[in-house]
Amino acid sequence: MNRRDFTVMLADQILFMAPLLEPLGMAPQIDWVMRSLYDQQQMYLKGLSKCDGITKVSGHQTGKAGDILVIGRNTAGNLVIIDPMKVCPEVWKQCRQHWVEIGGEPMIEWDQFHHECK
Ligand SMILES: [Zn+2]
Repeated sequence: MNRRDFTVMLADQILFMAPLLEPLGMAPQIDWVMRSLYDQQQMYLKGLSKCDGITKVSGHQTGKAGDILVIGRNTAGNLVIIDPMKVCPEVWKQCRQHWVEIGGEPMIEWDQFHHECK
């Protein structure tokens, strides 16, 4: 598995997610893929990642992790990041299952948007 293979996996995941989310008025959006050492360290210092970037390297530093958000509208009609575990848990489980079926790692409970492969 190299970085390019991972990019194809992300596209596969987006193509799987889009038609499941579209009838709900939502769409997948790739957020953060590659992350520099500096960015990783900043995330770690803010408590947003368990990887310090050196002793524990994030998949985001090696090009084998990407965050796929779910975007939808709030009650005011504005586009916002949706919590799919709360709003559409069955659809989200299907999406996460697909990721595992194509070779990805299972969902991290505290980071539902993170998609990674080893
Ligand atoms: Zn991530």
